[in-house]
Amino acid sequence: MDLDLSSEQQEFQKTVRAFVDDAIRPNAERWDEAHELPMDAVKQMADLGLFGLPFPEEYGGSGADFLTLCLAIEELARVDSSLAITLEAAVGLGAMPVWQFGTEDQRQQYLPPLATGEALAGFGLTEPGGGSDAGATKTTARLENGEWVINGSKSFITNSGTPITKFVTVTAVTDSPGGKKEISAIIVPVGTPGFVVGKSYRKMGWWHSDTHELSFSDVRVPEENLLGDRGEGFRNFLKILDDGRIAIAALAVGLAQGCVDECVKYSQERTAFGQQIGSFQAIQFKIADMAMKTELARSAYHRAAWLKEQGRPYKKEAAMAKLYASEIAVDCARDAVQVHGGYGYIEDFPVCRHFRDSKILEIGEGTSEVMRILIARELGLPQS
Ligand SMILES: Cc1cc2nc3c(=O)[nH]c(=O)nc-3n(C[C@H](O)[C@H](O)[C@H](O)COP(=O)(O)OP(=O)(O)OC[C@H]3O[C@@H](n4cnc5c(N)ncnc54)[C@H](O)[C@@H]3O)c2cc1C
Repeated sequence: MDLDLSSEQQEFQKTVRAFVDDAIRPNAERWDEAHELPMDAVKQMADLGLFGLPFPEEYGGSGADFLTLCLAIEELARVDSSLAITLEAAVGLGAMPVWQFGTEDQRQQYLPPLATGEALAGFGLTEPGGGSDAGATKTTARLENGEWVINGSKSFITNSGTPITKFVTVTAVTDSPGGKKEISAIIVPVGTPGFVVGKSYRKMGWWHSDTHELSFSDVRVPEENLLGDRGEGFRNFLKILDDGRIAIAALAVGLAQGCVDECVKYSQERTAFGQQIGSFQAIQFKIADMAMKTELARSAYHRAAWLKEQGRPYKKEAAMAKLYASEIAVDCARDAVQVHGGYGYIEDFPVCRHFRDSKILEIGEGTSEVMRILIARELGLPQS
């Protein structure tokens, strides 16, 4: 049993950590205040090769393993969750469906600009009427004279409205010839008439990540924009979400680690009653618990990523890692604010931003309730 990262992974982690400390940390608060995805930071992440990590070189990637991508997401999230989710969604939701389910033509056409970070793509599954019950999709796509005609709307779609967004893949009901309801995934290029990107949401956190509502009104795209087999859109997307959950767990671990780092620093600087607050057992126990939970969550996502790499089942482990890591991230962020006292409530201190950024982790890419349902199902418990 070898629990160490490989030497390549360790080197890569050091490189990303140095990049985050130099280029991201000094700017994260300013970017958040601006409520806009900083395209110069995206460019720097692209130059580092982050957007192409898990894709083969022939498509502009570097052929790294999935854990390496997760390490990059974790390192970013230590300091800046908005950029971490930008990377996670770009690779996991934007490019990965093309890589996993696209035809060779689609891979060659769409993957290289995504893998090099010149372009971004989004994936639209969630609708205003519901995200957890994604099978209840209302958006429709009917085939007419060799074109899909799409009508409907999607909510909360990450990376869908940036200056370099090239397309969004949407799930839509495509009634099969027999009249049976089926869901398919279709690539919709930005700028297609009838495809409207709504204005940015005013979010609790992830202020400088890009999230929009999308609407589709008689949007026409060629029949060959179908991604994956017809009727397989929903099933394929569930596979994408299994990987996404490991990546979100990595993001949560990064945020939790960022909270630990800030608390260790602050509790040595701040004094009360003539002592460093870090000498109070109440503070020590809080930080020790935060560090322990973070380490356990890290082990959970590393194991899920390892199972995936081995080609073994990992659905349950991915759900467990996502559930545990997101819940401890919220706990750590809340405790980190407490350790900082009143300053924890002030935006100048990173834990304030971490606190706002943590809650979505229990919601996005499957809520905590949905994770528990999945785990119970994998354990063979009866389903209602
Ligand atoms: C910032 C942000 C970015 C996002 N990015 C994307 C994206 O890029 N693409 C995309 O498709 N989606 C995206 N989402 C959507 C996200 O995945 C959904 O919000 C999430 O899946 C929950 O769906 P919902 O909001 O419709 O909540 P609902 O499904 O309406 O759930 C509401 C509550 O009911 C609970 N619930 C629902 N069903 C059950 C059940 N059977 N048993 C018990 N409890 C249940 C839920 O757990 C939750 O607590 C994003 C969301 C946000 C906020």
